[in-house]
Amino acid sequence: MTDTETTLGKYRIVDHAYDVVVVGAGGSGLRATLGMGAVGLKTACITKVFPTRSHTVAAQGGIGASLGNMAEDNWRWHMYDTVKGSDWLGDQDAIEFMCREAESAVKELEHFGVPFSRTEDGKIYQRPFGGHMSNYGKEPVPRACAAADRTGHAILHTLYQQCLKHRCEFFIEYYALDLIMDEKGQCRGVVAWCLDDGTIHRFSAKMVVLATGGYGRAFQSCTSAHSCTGDGGGLAMRAGVPTQDMEFVQFHPTGIYPAGCLLTEGCRGEGGYLTNSEGERFMERYAPTAKDLASRDVVSRAMTIEINEGRGCGPKKDQIMMHLEHLGPELLHERLPGISETARIFAGVDVTKEAAPVLPTVHYNMGGVPTNIHGEVVRPTEDDPDKIVPGLMAVGEAACVSVHGANRLGTNSLLDLIVFGRAAARRAAEIVDPNTPVPPLPENAGVKTIESFDRLRHASGKFTVAELRERLQRIMQAHAAVFRNTKSLQEGCEKIRELWKDVQHVSLRDRSLIWNSDLMEALEFENLLANATATIESANARQESRGAHAHDDYPERDDQHWMKHTVSYLDAEGNISLQYRPVHLYTLTNEVEVFPPKKRIY
Ligand SMILES: Cc1cc2nc3c(=O)[nH]c(=O)nc-3n(C[C@H](O)[C@H](O)[C@H](O)COP(=O)(O)OP(=O)(O)OC[C@H]3O[C@@H](n4cnc5c(N)ncnc54)[C@H](O)[C@@H]3O)c2cc1C
Repeated sequence: MTDTETTLGKYRIVDHAYDVVVVGAGGSGLRATLGMGAVGLKTACITKVFPTRSHTVAAQGGIGASLGNMAEDNWRWHMYDTVKGSDWLGDQDAIEFMCREAESAVKELEHFGVPFSRTEDGKIYQRPFGGHMSNYGKEPVPRACAAADRTGHAILHTLYQQCLKHRCEFFIEYYALDLIMDEKGQCRGVVAWCLDDGTIHRFSAKMVVLATGGYGRAFQSCTSAHSCTGDGGGLAMRAGVPTQDMEFVQFHPTGIYPAGCLLTEGCRGEGGYLTNSEGERFMERYAPTAKDLASRDVVSRAMTIEINEGRGCGPKKDQIMMHLEHLGPELLHERLPGISETARIFAGVDVTKEAAPVLPTVHYNMGGVPTNIHGEVVRPTEDDPDKIVPGLMAVGEAACVSVHGANRLGTNSLLDLIVFGRAAARRAAEIVDPNTPVPPLPENAGVKTIESFDRLRHASGKFTVAELRERLQRIMQAHAAVFRNTKSLQEGCEKIRELWKDVQHVSLRDRSLIWNSDLMEALEFENLLANATATIESANARQESRGAHAHDDYPERDDQHWMKHTVSYLDAEGNISLQYRPVHLYTLTNEVEVFPPKKRIY
């Protein structure tokens, strides 16, 4: 079918038809796109930034796989670490799947052309990372496959080249506005806005894949790119599809002070360590075995406690120092060149000579659109907690499959992107028939989207988008922080409800359709707000502490009442309704048994 052009009101509309439309060109979107293209599905990838500018490009430390290149390793140990890291909220079937697939996924990347760093004997170099241990929690094991400290960059560029090889079609600098759903609740396509000529595009598709990344920008200080605005979660929730486990937001222990840019956990993997104002290596007190390589929630909490108890460094006693100087310039140059540069630019520190000031900074969203291990989106019903939404998949940070549960281990996101991007492509190859015509779009497809787009474009209230966004970011930073409590969470929920009222009075200055960044930021803000609302409301409801959700009034994990996924639905007025869904406490094969819950000690 060829593209057709019509008009709808004042807007020029272009219609397209594809077997599959992938929204997002980060690691997950590109791995899915390439797999779909490779099996002959007519595949389009829509992306608001140039593919190789997606946030995946910033990933530094590595991709996890139990290759055992530098010390004995086993996928079952990786699985145990991931279940434990998730604080027993991760689905064990999905975790088993990811850890078993890791080796072939990484070797496939190597064959695609990813320039991994090498060991003396030419194998893929691996470094230790937080929470990755040998022998079911014994001691740190090198499992992070790394291309220096630019692993994401290497992967993203390689995947893009592979997509081009398979002749996948890219719609670059197109902003996805909404999903197109039919009356039966099936996803039928996407509406997008072409940023450089202002046309509106309706893509009809047999399968739509959300691969839009996280929503770190809902917080004031984060390591994520400005484009990480949770558009996939926004698209899904507006279409009546839920998000899951949104209360779990990961703080990375070592964002550089004060800018928040990341210094990879690979720094500690290579032997770096943290100290407080007394020069003490305090992690030894909190995690006697893993020390600085305990998992991220544990290290972030320990740092926050040190600062709160007056042992922070710097003039305001609000930072912790990270030491790399003992590693020597040669190793830093070879293994950590990127972070040496980051420390120099953002903190004026030469890491070969002095310690760098760091602070826990928002880094990753464990929550997202719920899916099964094939990437198919799930909308639970009373009889079926795993009920599939036909025509819709989600992968990567936008999704919640859930392999990270309440806390993600470093290197497991890049792995998640590749393993589940590939799994989604395999599933699509099974269920999407390239030889049948793409069904026509439902009547009125996109009409509501265009109406609200037009309303926003002409909005003339009293608040700018920048003001509203800053308010949101401050609320989230203060009320959905490393440590939470009932009073602060409730206040946060109230403030977010106020914000929903003020959003009705937003004002835009630019009314054009061409490169209107004011309008794009307004659209992104709507998505940030949707994700943030689900986050703080879910956090307010969860009366326990688990993984990244540390609740002062409920300091213990409560498996009896809370070992369950939070499923959140949002209505157009900003009201959330919460449901719960069981954690998968079963494995896929009999090659490994379920790891029963126990206390998490590093
Ligand atoms: C600084 C940093 C370092 C990290 N280091 C590591 C690491 O070493 N190891 C590890 O495992 N993990 C790491 N992570 C986490 C990991 O990199 C991310 O979780 C992952 O890259 C996200 O990939 P993604 O494919 O889900 O989305 P992204 O790479 O974020 O890409 C999102 C894509 O969606 C598109 N998009 C979004 N909204 C729209 C829209 N409305 N319309 C059209 N297109 C849209 C964007 O254009 C983009 O192409 C790191 C994260 C950060 C921030």
